Amino acid sequence: MSKQQDLQIDDQWIRSLRGTKNHIDPLRPAHFLIEKERTLSGTIEDVITIFLTNRECRFTCLMCDLWKNTTDIPVPPGAIPTQIEWALEQLPAARHIKLYNSANFFDPGAIPPADYPGIAALVKTFETVIIENHPLLTGELCLQFARMIHPGLQVAMGLETIHPEALHKLNKKMKPEDFQRSVAFLKKNGISSRAFILLRPPFLTEEEGIHWAKKSLTYAFESGTDSCTVIPTRAGNGAMEHLQQKGLFSPPRIQSLEEVQAYGIGLRAGPVFADTWDLEQFSRCDLCFEKRRQRMEQMNLFQKNLPPLSCSCLNNSLLSSN
Ligand code: SF4
Ligand SMILES: [Zn+2]
Repeated sequence: MSKQQDLQIDDQWIRSLRGTKNHIDPLRPAHFLIEKERTLSGTIEDVITIFLTNRECRFTCLMCDLWKNTTDIPVPPGAIPTQIEWALEQLPAARHIKLYNSANFFDPGAIPPADYPGIAALVKTFETVIIENHPLLTGELCLQFARMIHPGLQVAMGLETIHPEALHKLNKKMKPEDFQRSVAFLKKNGISSRAFILLRPPFLTEEEGIHWAKKSLTYAFESGTDSCTVIPTRAGNGAMEHLQQKGLFSPPRIQSLEEVQAYGIGLRAGPVFADTWDLEQFSRCDLCFEKRRQRMEQMNLFQKNLPPLSCSCLNNSLLSSN
């Protein structure tokens, strides 16, 4: 683990390094898309993702840049159902939907509970609704919403890493046990869960990043979570660039993501996905990048490890340091 000198990482410090937020319309989602994904039942199906616009998350995680598409004050009542309705009108039909809100679905300041019935009515034809939430906010509101909707609910939560110091420095204000308790609560109430695992958060070397991502995957499944998504840690929020300049953060290599994805799938404990968004930034080689991306996406869909790819860039990378 890198020396952190006397850095005082807290909300104030992280916020002081931010740029400006994007201009957003509270009656429109920030973005929406449809893509194929492996479901918990093992089928490959279309999944809609709507990135809802709402008030900024109350946590201030070190690596998070989701605040860019959020408001400073709660959106008006009815705005969230309006966003969902509008996005669904633009999209083809699907059986699964992610309602990601760049914050926590069960934060009443982000998604007003008064809007739950309106949201439930809009998603009633889906089989699965996947939302994102901080482990510390798993509770009665979650059960209230789950009772209201017809589809099965899945809660996606950031475990991030179980490296104690790195998790503390992420300023997520939780411990791995909070994640574990949250998964157990959801499971007891018939709600499935998905863990987000960060590959190489700040302060870890490449090897440590791989090692702790694997340990975190194992921990997530041993805690009872149903699936995991491995996210290569990215810069992009000001604080991460600052750490990068100080040599305290480097984005992981694409080969490390391949290794952790293969490890996770090999556990056979549930689907493990590698996050391939903006993947080119983790590659240093134009010769093999496209093949690596395709291989990872195939492994995401079929949950089967494919033979590793060889390329001359691997010999070069062995010669360079972290
Ligand atoms: S809890 Fe999630 S949305 Fe909130 S700051 Fe942390 S990573 Fe971002
Ligand atoms: Zn290559």
